[in-house]
Amino acid sequence: MPELPEVETTRRGLAPLLVGKRIKAAVVRHHGLRQPVPRNLSKLLAGTTIHHLTRRGKYLLFDCGTGTLILHLGMSGRLWVVNTGTPAEKHDHFDLVLENGTVVRLRDPRRFGLVLWHKGDPLGHPLLAAIGPEPFSLEFDGARLYRATRNRSAAIKLVLMDSHVVAGVGNIYANEALFRAGIRPSTPAQRLSRERCDVLAKRVRETLQDAIGAGGSSLRDYVGSDGLAGNFQSQFMVYGRAGQPCQHCGTTIKEIRQGQRATFYCPRCQR
Ligand SMILES: [Zn+2]
Repeated sequence: MPELPEVETTRRGLAPLLVGKRIKAAVVRHHGLRQPVPRNLSKLLAGTTIHHLTRRGKYLLFDCGTGTLILHLGMSGRLWVVNTGTPAEKHDHFDLVLENGTVVRLRDPRRFGLVLWHKGDPLGHPLLAAIGPEPFSLEFDGARLYRATRNRSAAIKLVLMDSHVVAGVGNIYANEALFRAGIRPSTPAQRLSRERCDVLAKRVRETLQDAIGAGGSSLRDYVGSDGLAGNFQSQFMVYGRAGQPCQHCGTTIKEIRQGQRATFYCPRCQR
């Protein structure tokens, strides 16, 4: 599933190609995504210029002046540029066609993605309004994490993946950040000291930053908007490494299930 680094990598890849460019049309081949794609989308987009391409959590926001195209990659979405005339394949549900011939294509086999239109401030959209602080913003720090965890008896890993607490951290990066912070993923969130919250907030940011620097992680079919695979997966310390030795201490990495998701940790490095 694309997490924040993959979405940010996509944004950085697409922005230079799209910002300042005029949209000619939108092609919707399948309206049945997580929410219905607006029927009149092409009409709304045609003739507008993409002023900015920003990100909030895992949402991409195409500011078109008259409104915002809101896009989410869902569980399996990928957004990239194809040459004009490239035939659409089975899961290619949406194209954004620019006047200069550039075509941005959304492929989403599981159809959990979103393509929406919003007039007015996109941050006020119901899906975006409740999202917690961006991990790279000043708002997200140890103090904030400490406050957010005081009444939470749930495991810290699950709390970290709660988008109300911090935006965009999914399973992979929660696992990796907790390893870097030396914190056992099953620790009840409210038991973390202020100092450990400071460390964890820092490690979350670092982990995401490193992943963005590596172009994201390529698992299963994820590739960046440039068609190149990210390679942060080569830096994984725990994710997907059950049964292998910890790269710090040699102890065997363990795997458990938390909230239907796989958790990996080093029983010695993470307490
Ligand atoms: Zn270890």
